[in-house]
Amino acid sequence: MKRNVVLKLSGVERHYGQGDTVLSILKGADFTLHSGEIVALVAPSGTGKSTLLHLAGLLEHPDDGEVSINGHACNGLSDDKRTAIRRSEIGFVYQFHHLLPEFSAQENIMMPQMISGLARKEAAVRAQQLLEYMRIGHRGSHRPGELSGGEQQRVAIARAVANAPSLLLADEPTGNLDPETANYVFDALEALVRQSGLAALIATHNHDLAARMDRRVTITDGKVVEF
Ligand code: ADP
Ligand code: MG
Repeated sequence: MKRNVVLKLSGVERHYGQGDTVLSILKGADFTLHSGEIVALVAPSGTGKSTLLHLAGLLEHPDDGEVSINGHACNGLSDDKRTAIRRSEIGFVYQFHHLLPEFSAQENIMMPQMISGLARKEAAVRAQQLLEYMRIGHRGSHRPGELSGGEQQRVAIARAVANAPSLLLADEPTGNLDPETANYVFDALEALVRQSGLAALIATHNHDLAARMDRRVTITDGKVVEF
């Protein structure tokens, strides 16, 4: 498989003003992520993992530097264009699933596809395929509240990739799960990434999971460094 650069951060700066003081979180961070690659982002709380993922996902603007998705610099783009790129190219998974409680698992996965203009029937077929891929094909009609934590996260992962994005960003996706369930959820995520050629950046505190990824990076003194 040809390895394209999916995500590139160049000299990214992010500073938060807090009263008279400025909190510098990212100070010239560089990072490159290729298709088909799973990278662990492991760093202590408060070092800027979520900040980095939000910048990579075009949810925030850097104070300086550049964020490129699939070779396109995104800084100067309009909010509409950034939203369009986010919808088609980027999938997010959070620590808490954020599934809509009044809809079934299958409907939750159909939602982003229908927002992108896919017909209900086609969205339903793809949602079911993804559920089966995540080994919860029999749970499609259940609402999130009827699913276990591990099942909920597998639905959230399926929803994140429903529009076949090129980049998956996950912010401590197994942080709320016991180690065995975390492993099982990561197995499913890994299989999906390997099969689809997605690029994935996964913030985690779980060193066993990090060890299974292709590369490990951390944030030190506002920069992204491999370890
Ligand atoms: P992590 O995900 O690694 O725990 P975060 O990226 O959430 O770290 O936060 C990094 C630091 O930036 C923290 O000290 C946090 O308090 C601060 N921070 C994050 N977002 C904001 C914000 N919107 N305004 C001010 N400070 C923020
Ligand atoms: Mg965080």
